[in-house]
Amino acid sequence: MILLTPGPTPVPENIRQAMATQTLHHRTPEFEKIFASAREKLLKIFGTHEVIMLGSTGTGAMEAAVTNLCKKKLLFVNAGKFGERFGKIAKAFNIETVELKYEWDTPASIDDVKTALKNHPDIDAIAVQISESAGGLRHPAEEIAKTAKEINPNIQIITDGITTVGVEKIDISNIDALIAGSQKAFMLPPGLAMIGLSKQAVEIIEKNPRGYYFNLASELKVQKKNTTAYTAVTTLIQGLDAILSDIFQLGVENLYEITKKRHQASTKALESIGLNIYPKNPALSMTTDYHERADEIRKIIKNDFEANLAGGQDHLSGKIFRINNMGLIKPYEISWALNSVELALDKLKIREFDGTASRVFSQAFFKSSND
Ligand SMILES: *Cc1c(COP(=O)(O)O)cnc(C)c1O
Repeated sequence: MILLTPGPTPVPENIRQAMATQTLHHRTPEFEKIFASAREKLLKIFGTHEVIMLGSTGTGAMEAAVTNLCKKKLLFVNAGKFGERFGKIAKAFNIETVELKYEWDTPASIDDVKTALKNHPDIDAIAVQISESAGGLRHPAEEIAKTAKEINPNIQIITDGITTVGVEKIDISNIDALIAGSQKAFMLPPGLAMIGLSKQAVEIIEKNPRGYYFNLASELKVQKKNTTAYTAVTTLIQGLDAILSDIFQLGVENLYEITKKRHQASTKALESIGLNIYPKNPALSMTTDYHERADEIRKIIKNDFEANLAGGQDHLSGKIFRINNMGLIKPYEISWALNSVELALDKLKIREFDGTASRVFSQAFFKSSND
């Protein structure tokens, strides 16, 4: 079975091997060396002033960013499950919120952000997904960040980059917190979250520490010395160091370029067999198709052709399917998935099979230069 869900993503064989050592003790020079190596690489790929690793899934890092950086009122963008989650986190901590709500295919508008900031001058943080995985949507997060900082230079910009870090280059110049998770573009098992921080965010965190486990001030203090406040997720950090080595060997720019090309080629292939791309501004992390019979298509692909695609949630349940485009996916895996989509359409008597999808994919991926 090929795992092609936009998280968790498959862990490459050599990375599984890199994690298959005896358990290391976390307070040892041996582990600190691995931690230091992973940390150095993380700082490079995030490009941020600081970076923190946390033993939690991505949601833990979202919570940590909100509770450590928002003291008054949070403006959050909700165009899907993950955006909605920022609001739920704030509510759980009695943080006041202002919500910008959109249909799941619609990117946030800069004008709406401006208006919200004008109407609520006490907003001290904004939370937004860069790539909202619920509908495979790319928000103009960098532009939101830039606009907000022009209005209030002290506002904290919290970005969920869980399906963006490692997928494309992010302009971090106005971003204060950049969140990532192990089981998406980093191709690791779930359980490790990472937050890149700006200098300003570090100052805020250190000036007014918050929380206990997710107290970023206490983590920052010790992680600079290559250790963690509590037991480190040693196995995952070993895996992280190994995968980042592979990514740097390939070249980060190359990874971004291949990812983009694969996304363009899959999009063309799906459109060539009459399918509709769901989001108005698609993220590169996945390709998302809207189809009234999406679940039937997905079931056939899984049962007959051994590829596991993701469906939709809430009002999009049964209406979309999502194909992962993060990580070091082999083109033959995507090609097979697209071919399977076409075969499923044939089985459902929606469109007769003629091999168009895999032909268009191969043409675009292997035979044309990047545009
Ligand atoms: C997967 C994901 C998360 C985090 O989910 P966890 O299950 O806590 O790892 C958050 N935001 C986005 C955009 C995601 O894709």
